[in-house]
Amino acid sequence: MSDVLILGYGPAGISASLYALRAGMDVQIVGKDSGALGKAHLIENYYGLEKPLTGAELVEVGKKQALALGAKIAEDEITDLMFDGTQFVARSQSATYTGKACILATGSARKKVAIKGVSELEGHGVSYCAVCDAFFYRGKDVAVLGSGEYALNEVNELLAVAKSVTLLTNAAEITAKFPENVKIETRKISELLGETQFAGARFEDGEEIKLDGFFVALGSASAVDLIRKAGAMFENGKPILNDFQTSVPGLFMAGDATGGTLQVSVAVGEGALAGLAANKFLRE
Ligand SMILES: Cc1cc2nc3c(=O)[nH]c(=O)nc-3n(C[C@H](O)[C@H](O)[C@H](O)COP(=O)(O)OP(=O)(O)OC[C@H]3O[C@@H](n4cnc5c(N)ncnc54)[C@H](O)[C@@H]3O)c2cc1C
Repeated sequence: MSDVLILGYGPAGISASLYALRAGMDVQIVGKDSGALGKAHLIENYYGLEKPLTGAELVEVGKKQALALGAKIAEDEITDLMFDGTQFVARSQSATYTGKACILATGSARKKVAIKGVSELEGHGVSYCAVCDAFFYRGKDVAVLGSGEYALNEVNELLAVAKSVTLLTNAAEITAKFPENVKIETRKISELLGETQFAGARFEDGEEIKLDGFFVALGSASAVDLIRKAGAMFENGKPILNDFQTSVPGLFMAGDATGGTLQVSVAVGEGALAGLAANKFLRE
C-alpha cells in the first residue's frame, strides 16, 4: 500500500506528488493519458518557461521530475474507487492500486449529456453511480449510457443484480469488451421517456425501449464519479470540500477537477495544497 495514491499525472497530480515525496511519503500515481495539458499547443503563460513548451512536453517534464524523486507512475484508467476501512482502493479493469490517502487530480470532466430528459430525471431513474444505486434496480431492466471501460465497470456492477442490462452507445464507438449477456444498442437516442420517473428511451428513428433505470457512464470516470463511489457528500450538486479534502477523511481533490479557473498555474497551486493537506492527514 502506498502512503499517497494520486489519480492523474497532469499539473495538479504531479505537483501534489512533489510535496508528498519531499515529505518522505511513498507515492503511487495512476493516469490514463496526458489529460487537458497534453492537448495544449503551446504554454506561454506559466512561470519559468524561458521558451514556450507544448503541453505534451510539459507533461513529460513533470512526470520525469516526480520519477526522479521516487514516485511510481502507472498508465491505467481507473473505473472504481472505495475506502475499505483502512485504505483507498482504486481499480482499473486489470489492476488494483491502494493508498492511505488519495488525491483525485483527474482534470475537468468536460462531459455533458446532450440528451433531452437526462438532467430532469436525475434521481428519478437516472443515476451516475452503479455501486451507489444498483440495489434499487434488483430484478429490473436497466441501461448504461457509454461505450468504454468506465461503462464496462458500471455494466458489471449492474449485471450482478438487474434482470437485464442494455448498453446504449448513442452511436459512439465501442472501446471495451462487454460481456455477452449485455444487449448492445448503438442507435442515437433522441430523448428519455417519463414525466417524473424515467421509463425508457426513444431513438432517433422513433422506436422506443422500455427501461427502469438509466446509468450515465460516458468517457472515463471523473473525479466526481469516483468520489461519489467512495461515499463523499455533495451540496447543491457540488462536492463538499474543506482545504481540498472531501467529506471522506483522507480523500482530496485538486486542479481542474475542482472547477474554477482551468489553468496550469491554478492546478499546480491546488496540487501543492492538496499534497500538503494529505501529508498533514497522514501525520495526524
Ligand atoms: C487545448 C487546451 C489549451 C490550453 N492552454 C492552456 C494555456 O495556454 N495555459 C494554461 O495555463 N492552461 C491551458 N489549458 C488548461 C490546462 O491544460 C489545465 O488547466 C491543466 O492541465 C489542469 O491540470 P490537471 O492536472 O487538473 O488536469 P489534466 O491536465 O487534465 O490532467 C488530468 C490527469 O488525470 C488523468 N485521468 C482522468 N481520468 C482518469 C481516470 N479515470 N483514471 C486515471 N487517470 C485519469 C488524465 O489521464 C491526466 O493524467 C489548456 C487546456 C486545453 C484543453
